[in-house]
Amino acid sequence: MSLKWRIALGYSVLLIVAMTAMSGLIVWRFQQILYDQAETSVNATMKAIVQFAQQSTTPFSLEDPSVGTLQFLFNSANLATWNSANSFVQVDSGDGYPLAKTANLGGATIPTNPKLSAGHDVAYREIVLGGRPFLVEDRYLLEGTNSAVIHVAEPLDTLKRTFGRARQAIAVVLAATAAAVVIFSILFASEVTTPINALAREMREIGSDRLSLAASTLDGKVGGNRLRRRDDEIGRLAKSFNDLLARLAEAFARERQFISDASHELKTPLTSINANAQMLLRWGDQNTTIRRESLETIVRESSDLAGMVNGMLTLAKADRGDEIPKEPLSLAQIASEVAHNAMPRAAEKRIDLTFEHGGTPIVYGDAALMRQMIGNLVDNAIKFTERGRVDVRVGEAPEQAWVEVADTGPGIAEGERGQIFERFYREDKARSRIVPGTGLGLAIVRSIARVHGGEATAGKAPGGGALFRVVLPRIKLPLTELS
Ligand code: ADP
Repeated sequence: MSLKWRIALGYSVLLIVAMTAMSGLIVWRFQQILYDQAETSVNATMKAIVQFAQQSTTPFSLEDPSVGTLQFLFNSANLATWNSANSFVQVDSGDGYPLAKTANLGGATIPTNPKLSAGHDVAYREIVLGGRPFLVEDRYLLEGTNSAVIHVAEPLDTLKRTFGRARQAIAVVLAATAAAVVIFSILFASEVTTPINALAREMREIGSDRLSLAASTLDGKVGGNRLRRRDDEIGRLAKSFNDLLARLAEAFARERQFISDASHELKTPLTSINANAQMLLRWGDQNTTIRRESLETIVRESSDLAGMVNGMLTLAKADRGDEIPKEPLSLAQIASEVAHNAMPRAAEKRIDLTFEHGGTPIVYGDAALMRQMIGNLVDNAIKFTERGRVDVRVGEAPEQAWVEVADTGPGIAEGERGQIFERFYREDKARSRIVPGTGLGLAIVRSIARVHGGEATAGKAPGGGALFRVVLPRIKLPLTELS
């Protein structure tokens, strides 16, 4: 059963059961009140009769029992006062023989009440007499050795009619309300499920060619659903879904851009390798200069290619994020190793490469990626610096660990500091042509920093050169746990 019908059915059943129970309660209570009133009324008549009988006779005496209250009641003429449309009185002897009654009873006789006894001298009951319903109070009276039973009856037909009409009215209202409840439940359920269905339909139609919900569903009136305009859970769901799609579209666009950039970057060295190989084929045998130059170019370009492919593989690995196995590492130890490995290259260019650390912060990460991240920064610093120095520093703050690489090279223009981390971005094309590189180094640095929960930034070193800084979350661990 669909959600819509489940909601509609559940809601209807619940409301109808609650309404019926409430109406039942009201009807029952109403009936009780009406019967209580009728009982009070017959009881008042009963009291009046007994009181009147007692006042109208001399007190009972053993010598002359014939003048007692019962004797008064045994005389039908004395009951005439209560002969009205609303009261019917009958007096029986104690053993149930009818002795006197009001004229309105005619030939009818109120039957004895078997429940009435000497110990239980008042009772109420409902009887049918001559086709009419009556409420009867029976009272047992004892006077000396004489006893009598008085029956006071009051017709119940008006009460029953009123009650029947009330019950009918309630039933009609109940049925109408139940119908309304069912209709509203279905409408209400549709209100909930129609936009969900619209959303599901939209989702099915989403593909890489259209990565967003149709504007007609979001803002238009398709099926009465303005998903985005709804300021409720469903509106928010549609919005979150669209935001997710927007992020996906962005990621797809980035991937497409990356593929197109990568193809472009791979094409240049490949074209050059191809051209030089053709030169070799044609002139290689005769001309040794051409042969050497062509081979040198092929070696250089193919090693660039290999570098680029390696860079792309590292980026792909860093992008996988969660799959990277991480362990506690000493940032200072890794940075120190990287710096010492680079020292011979720095020495070749007569650049001073120093390493210092304030504290030994521990970070949680992949050692090879960390080495590559710091290595890329140090390589760039040596690559772009012609004279002066490169300083590698590691430090710590309460929650963070950082590594900085500062140089005395040309530095990075302020406007470019954001872009240099883009994939394949190379500042100043003229300089890039002289200094070899792939344009992937800093993209890799940033990817690795982010996958470790940190960030990489570029700034200006005090000496005017470039200053790169990677900040990572620091973990607190006893050093003995380091692998
Ligand atoms: P590559 O070094 O292969 O060109 P990177 O992504 O490592 O690619 O760097 C991107 C650009 O950032 C470089 O082309 C260069 O213009 C600039 N850059 C990086 N490091 C430095 C530095 N230490 N000093 C000056 N410019 C730098």
